[in-house]
Amino acid sequence: MNHAHVSHKPVVELKSLTKSFDGKEIISRFNLTVNDGEFLTILGPSGCGKTTVLRLIAGLEDADSGRVIIDGKDVTDIPAEQRHVNTVFQSYALFPHMSVFENVAFGLRMQGVDRTTIEPRVMEALRMVQLDHYASRKPHQLSGGQQQRVAIARAVVNKPKVLLLDESLSALDYKLRKRMQMELKQLQRKLGITFIFVTHDQEEALSMSDRILVMRDGEIEQDGSPREIYEEPKNLFVARFIGEINVFDATVIKRMDEQRIWARIESRECEVYCKLDVRAGDQVKVLLRPEDIRIEEISDDANPNGLIGYVRERNYKGMTLDSVLEMPSGQTVMVSEFFNEDDPDVDHSLDQKVAITWVESWEVVLADEKA
Ligand code: ATP
Repeated sequence: MNHAHVSHKPVVELKSLTKSFDGKEIISRFNLTVNDGEFLTILGPSGCGKTTVLRLIAGLEDADSGRVIIDGKDVTDIPAEQRHVNTVFQSYALFPHMSVFENVAFGLRMQGVDRTTIEPRVMEALRMVQLDHYASRKPHQLSGGQQQRVAIARAVVNKPKVLLLDESLSALDYKLRKRMQMELKQLQRKLGITFIFVTHDQEEALSMSDRILVMRDGEIEQDGSPREIYEEPKNLFVARFIGEINVFDATVIKRMDEQRIWARIESRECEVYCKLDVRAGDQVKVLLRPEDIRIEEISDDANPNGLIGYVRERNYKGMTLDSVLEMPSGQTVMVSEFFNEDDPDVDHSLDQKVAITWVESWEVVLADEKA
């Protein structure tokens, strides 16, 4: 991925921020640095504190302790309207009686920007979101996606240093949402403004961000690029939160070399790529994404040197054929294979006995933790 647009100049710095509501600590000693031009997504389950982090950056909430620094300036005690930060909420509440132009111009007028400057700035913002031909319409004459674009134009017209987006696309239907994801990312590149985007939709986070922060209970579980988060989750929580994953309990039998261990999964022994410092007898978790698993056909009485399972479900998804396998222990295994009609191997029949294989080094091994 090309990150050429991201500089190493910090534009938002949160230093040991703590915030409680009703005596309960929601954000605990939270540290974060966001660089200029970065598209950062904060991802996490409902109630983990994502919105609270945004509100602390925006100045809509005061921290109990810690500092908020924007563009090098300590703004902890500075009110929201004086921070160079705008927010686009899920309910983007446009003024219904005002035209699109007036909606976008409103903030500039309130700031006392002079008339001759307002017109070109508003039209430029509307061009950015491809709504310059709709300037005289009222919000009710626009689709949901167009209204959302007006809200974004309104938020970028005064060229903030940082734009905060709180579940900004979640009111849109699936197709529109996909399109807006692309548009928003392109817009962010064009503007060079730092975007901090909050969502609980992992697919949205993976496709839009330069960097993802996975949160749980007010703390950061992992901070990395979309690929790092998906391919090298640091723990079971992150692994499970980002997409489907199969988790196998395994016992270490011995270390083979720096990269590989010999381990037992169910009653089978196999080679596993493992960077952890483990020794014989240790319990570990072996994680495999559904698309990294292959199903091999075997005859019913075969005793293959690998894991076996029985095909219990097959779901045709267009691009892929997804199967649910059941292992002798009762554990289910999800498999997602590219579907190619000319490849008969992918067409497994129900209840067929199959071997479960994968390419060594595609698995992630974690120390044992509570599942
Ligand atoms: P969601 O995805 O559901 O929006 P979130 O991760 O954005 O969740 P927050 O809105 O930051 O979570 O809320 C975190 C916790 O803080 C929740 O338990 C919430 O009930 C609590 N909370 C947030 N704001 C307040 C408030 N003003 N008063 C009391 N509790 C609050």
